[in-house]
Amino acid sequence: MADNFDIYMCMTSSANAEAATLLLQQAEMDFRSFETLPILIDAARENGLGALFLEEEQLRQGYGSLQAFLATQPPWSEPPVILITGTMYAETGRIFIEQLPNLTMLERPVSSASLLSHLQAAQKARKRQYQMRDLLFRLSRLNETLEEQVAGRTAETERRRIEAERSNEDLQHFASVISHDLREPLLVISRYLDLLAKQLGDKLDDNSRRFIEQSTASAHRMQNMISAILKYSRSDNAILNLERVDTGHIVEQACANLNIRIESTRAVITCDENMPTICGDKVLLTQLFQNLLSNGIKFAHMEPPQIHVCAEKDENQYRFAVSDNGIGINDEQYQKVFNIFDRASRGRKYSGFGIGLAVCKKIIERHGGSIWVESEMWQGSTFYFTIPDDMQCTADESKPSL
Ligand code: ADP
Repeated sequence: MADNFDIYMCMTSSANAEAATLLLQQAEMDFRSFETLPILIDAARENGLGALFLEEEQLRQGYGSLQAFLATQPPWSEPPVILITGTMYAETGRIFIEQLPNLTMLERPVSSASLLSHLQAAQKARKRQYQMRDLLFRLSRLNETLEEQVAGRTAETERRRIEAERSNEDLQHFASVISHDLREPLLVISRYLDLLAKQLGDKLDDNSRRFIEQSTASAHRMQNMISAILKYSRSDNAILNLERVDTGHIVEQACANLNIRIESTRAVITCDENMPTICGDKVLLTQLFQNLLSNGIKFAHMEPPQIHVCAEKDENQYRFAVSDNGIGINDEQYQKVFNIFDRASRGRKYSGFGIGLAVCKKIIERHGGSIWVESEMWQGSTFYFTIPDDMQCTADESKPSL
């Protein structure tokens, strides 16, 4: 509906129309005058209007069409009706008239000043309605844009989810290819090397024996790498069984699993009392502590290796720390050590495949936290990780198990 602030008036007599015209002209108000109420309403339907200015006698023929016109107005629009009333309608008729929305009834005789101020107020009120319409329009456009943006983001999230699912499937496929197709030929190589060593026995000179031994060791190493890759892919795909777990008990369990290595190295592992109870996957968290503790033992620098585990509440998450007195990590390697197969310390002294910390990272990410390391060369390292406090203790069924 176009903006229109004109007063639409319909007077009972030409004398009244003339008087009203004079008044509105003197006040420099925009207006239009109509012979009958139905004609006025037709014009209002077509062009919009500022306010209606009528005498109650007009309602004799036009009440129905006026009511119908007002009833079809959009929610923001309630055209003001200024009605000059006399003695025509009995009480029952008044009741009907009073049901018209935004109605001002002025009892005859009405002074020019009072009439003018009511008409001006009606026009002002109408202007505010048009402003409200513009605001509502802008709001709905904004809403539409917002909805479009949300729909766009939802589609993007869905696309990423499908992509992640696909790459998960690829990883699973990759893992199964490795486990079945690569293990077989490796076993054959190991067996034939074994047979060769047995058959040739004493005929082998030292060099040939060394070649066979090295080949066998490499085949074993490759088999272990395959197992490590499988372990890594499982840490990503295993179902997350969330439950309330006492992290003190988890550390105890991890130490029990490493018992032989702890005893043989005389490692001293200590843990803060009052470790928090959190929501997490018991098996995966045990694996996490086990990896960190066994690294602390493996990358020892001083005798005996000393490792301390502690935790503290940090806003809405728990922050755990596993510190050792080992060889330390160069700060250039802080990020890299969490990548699969990335190893900062090579050489025979430190066996491994560079998979333990990559598994730790996956475990922590699946718990919604993050993991990082701070270290000083030859002084020791501290591995930190966080686990949010608001994890819901329900099984995550969305991930498939291998
Ligand atoms: P791996 O122990 O099999 O090499 P990890 O993924 O557990 O694999 O560790 C990756 C690398 O990070 C290690 O090779 C080592 O260089 C470094 N690292 C891990 N933990 C420690 C530690 N506690 N002290 C020093 N270096 C460490």
